[in-house]
Parts: sequence; structure tokens; C-alpha cells
Amino acid sequence: MAWRSSGTSNAELIANLLKNKLISLDLVGDAMKKVDRANYVLAGPRAAYEDSPQYIGHGATISAPHMHAMAAEHLSAKQRGDTGPSPFLFPGAKVLDVGSGSGYFVAMMHHLVSSADVKGKVVGIDHIPELVAFSVDNLKKDGLGPALESGEIEMITGDGRQGYASGGPYTAIHVGAAAPFIPPALIEQLARPGRMFIPVGPDGGSQTVVQVDKDADGKVTETQLMGVRYVPLTDRVKEY
Ligand code: SAH
Repeated sequence: MAWRSSGTSNAELIANLLKNKLISLDLVGDAMKKVDRANYVLAGPRAAYEDSPQYIGHGATISAPHMHAMAAEHLSAKQRGDTGPSPFLFPGAKVLDVGSGSGYFVAMMHHLVSSADVKGKVVGIDHIPELVAFSVDNLKKDGLGPALESGEIEMITGDGRQGYASGGPYTAIHVGAAAPFIPPALIEQLARPGRMFIPVGPDGGSQTVVQVDKDADGKVTETQLMGVRYVPLTDRVKEY
């Protein structure tokens, strides 16, 4: 898809993703227009506006824009044309990004849960301190310094497999790295109702995105969505 959806500016990248139906929900397209991907990559703007993953150091990659769009669309649980509020990613929601890397998806979710009138909360967690510092710098470059100061965005260094209980429960949890199994702490920290998007499978092997839904009574169901290839959710030492 890289060649079809790339652009020479952020606006052109998003317009091409919309045109090629890699973004189908306006609310997701609108959030992505507010996040300038050039602020989240190491390479120059030319690479930033390509619909491809890019290396950001420390064994991590920023996901391709169409993957971030797909994750946000699954987490929002809305269909094209549905104008009602999302049960999971709505203004005022508390949400978690595990393996936050560049901070790009944190910024995207921030624009979905916070507005001028309603303050939501996004917690990003990564186990590489250098990447947490990188993401904080990126978010500031992208105009989100005030959201970091107000606590609408909180970036944490830690083992994402434990989640971040004190910030929860979360109506949406996005996991940006593939886990060998679904960490129980993340299921516990899902709100009722809540939804998690998590790639599951071995490092470099066959991985599947699993959608974990917790309903209003606390009943948990898992749905397999599609095959993918992500960086592993693992112990820190293995990253070096
Ligand atoms: N959505 C991010 C993806 C970054 S790649 C982006 O697009 O920028 C996956 C990230 O998961 C890496 O930053 C890696 O450091 C992190 N990670 C891997 N295992 C982890 C763990 N146990 N706890 C927290 N973060 C982890």
C-alpha cells in the first residue's frame, strides 16, 4: 500500500488513506489530520508521509499509518455512516497505549478522547526510557505540551504487560507489540464495557490481532481479527 497512499505532506497522506479506503471513519481521519507524522519519526518528512513502518531505534518501529487507522477503527467499534458516540473511544474516555514507542498513537487517541470542552485521559507506557523521552519530545513538537502538563496525556516507563492500574479502568487498550499470550493485568484493567486491540503470537512467527471485549457485566470475549507482524512485547533486556 506504501506506494498508493503516501503523500508529500501530512494532509496528502491522510487524504490518500481516505481515498484508498484505508481509513473509513471520518472521526479517525479527523484525528489523524491533527497528528503530523513528521514529528514522530527519525527520518525526514519524505519518509514520514509514506504509508510504511519506520525504525525509531531500540528495536522499535513506528507502525504504518494504515495500521494505526485500522487499530483506532476497531477500538472505536463504529461503522462507516454511524454518527452516534463510540462506546470505547469517546470524549472524556480514559484509554491506554501499551508499547507507545514514538507516541503517535497516544496523540491520535488524545484527539479522540479530549476536546476543548471535554478532557479525556491517555496513558502511554513503554519499557525503554529513551523511547519514552523520545515520545514526550515528539508530543511536544506536535503541540501537545499543554496536554502533558494538564495530565490529559501521561507517559510512563514500565512493563506494559502489567498495564498501569492506577490510571484505569480503561475503555480502550491498544497494544502496539505482539504478546505470546494476553497479559491478565490488561484484561483486569479494561472497563465495563471496554475493548482491547492486541496482536498475539510468537516473535517473528504467525501473529493474529485479537479483539478482547469486556461487557457491562464483566463477561470477556475474544475475537480473532487478522494476521499481522509486530515487534514483540517482551522483557527489556531482549531489546538490546
Ligand atoms: N505504536 C508504537 C509502536 C512501537 S513498536 C508506534 O507506532 O510508535 C513497539 C513498542 O513496544 C516498542 O517501543 C517497545 O519498546 C515496546 N515494548 C515491547 N515490550 C514492552 C513491554 N514489555 N512493556 C512496554 N513496552 C514494550
